[in-house]
Amino acid sequence: MADLTPANALDLLETVDLIVDGTDNFETRYLLNDAAVKLGSRGFYGAAVGSYGLKLTVVPGRTACLKCIYPEPPGVRSRPANRRRSRARDHAIAALQVADA
Ligand SMILES: [Zn+2]
Repeated sequence: MADLTPANALDLLETVDLIVDGTDNFETRYLLNDAAVKLGSRGFYGAAVGSYGLKLTVVPGRTACLKCIYPEPPGVRSRPANRRRSRARDHAIAALQVADA
């Protein structure tokens, strides 16, 4: 087991075909995205804040990547005040990511 860093991301991910994001921050999502694009691996991203969630499937060379859609991480001002965790919301987003994968 190792922490994912810019120095080891390509080495850790080069043997996988699919990358399913379960992270809680854009720094790591961008790291996964950059590695997936370089490696040609499909990426399945999910995020949930407040009462809603989003999912994104990225197929390198065929779709926009995470950075194309979100060139900058959402700022604190764009985040809803209500940041409570919702297990049902999180599970729904995860299920959609897995269905896409
Ligand atoms: Zn892109």
